[in-house]
Amino acid sequence: MNTIFESSHPLVAHKLTRLRDKNTEPKKFRELVREVSALLAYEATADLEIAPMQVETPLAMAEGMELKQPIGLVPILRSGLGMVEGIWGLMPSAEVWHIGLYRDERTLQPVEYYNKLPLEPTVSVCLVLDPMLATGGSAVATVDILKEWGVQKIKFLGILAAPEGVQAMQSAHPDVPLHLAVIDDHLNEHGYIVPGLGDAGDRQFGTG
Ligand code: URA
Repeated sequence: MNTIFESSHPLVAHKLTRLRDKNTEPKKFRELVREVSALLAYEATADLEIAPMQVETPLAMAEGMELKQPIGLVPILRSGLGMVEGIWGLMPSAEVWHIGLYRDERTLQPVEYYNKLPLEPTVSVCLVLDPMLATGGSAVATVDILKEWGVQKIKFLGILAAPEGVQAMQSAHPDVPLHLAVIDDHLNEHGYIVPGLGDAGDRQFGTG
């Protein structure tokens, strides 16, 4: 069973409400996606491994810590892109590996169109980024790809989820924790999360 973290942070709740609002314009929408993503990442990275190191202050040597494992941010194109910036600001040495999947509108199944991962894994922790965990098809397929690549530790970060998407991840990848702002009511017949926020890609990129 996945560990499901549904944020209870007041800032997340406030920003999520602004994201849902159909009158929120793309510039503000992108800003909110960036901020909510950073808040989710702060919670999701609480168990990252650190190693002791020393650092010289202007006065003396001090004991310190540094992140031990190389981290990969894996935005699912295209709507995961907007989640990168805020999280990258928190961990600037992370690598960013893009995975391109689109959802076939008829079958609602994910189709891979972009994947430039090298043969050998270069990171040991991956944060998969997609603001909408709807059917779960893209998230499941991306985690399949990363596991096959050899990544040891994978977490999923999303803003809104449908119970159907959570269920799909639970069946396919029970070892991958889900860090979400909220789990909504249901998916409609077009695969949209209800009440949701509409199309997260269109709303970020102004293409709706
Ligand atoms: N993708 C979106 O952008 N919105 C949804 O509601 C579901 C999938």
